[in-house]
Formats: sequence, C-alpha cells, structure tokens
Amino acid sequence: MAKPVRLVSSMDTPSRKCHICQGDALDGVRLAAGYICPDCLRLIGGTQVGDTMYAYFVARLKELWQAG
Ligand SMILES: [Zn+2]
Repeated sequence: MAKPVRLVSSMDTPSRKCHICQGDALDGVRLAAGYICPDCLRLIGGTQVGDTMYAYFVARLKELWQAG
C-alpha cells in the first residue's frame, strides 16, 4: 500500500518576497533570512564591482546574512 507523497505541503506557502525588489520570489533562492528572485539574481550577476547598484545589492544581501 503506497501512500501518496505530498511534495508540496499546503502549510509551506508563506509569502516569499524578494528582499531586494519586494517582488514575488517563489522561484527565487533562499538566502539566509530571505529570498532573492531570479530577476534580481540576474541583475546582481550582471553588475560590475564599483557600479552604484553593486554597492546597493551588497548592502541588501548583508542585511539578510545578518538577520539570519
Ligand atoms: Zn527581486
């Protein structure tokens, strides 16, 4: 007798908001205390060190690490 396996629990649907843009981060990655959506991940990846946005992203990511 095989029991159906529930891969996704209905209890496990908290609001996952991207820590950077506050957008929907359901497909994002979990980072310490929060989530980053795919869009922001791409932005971070395409940002150069020394860019104004880079400093912004790093600051936001630091918040997550410190909160976690
Ligand atoms: Zn985002």
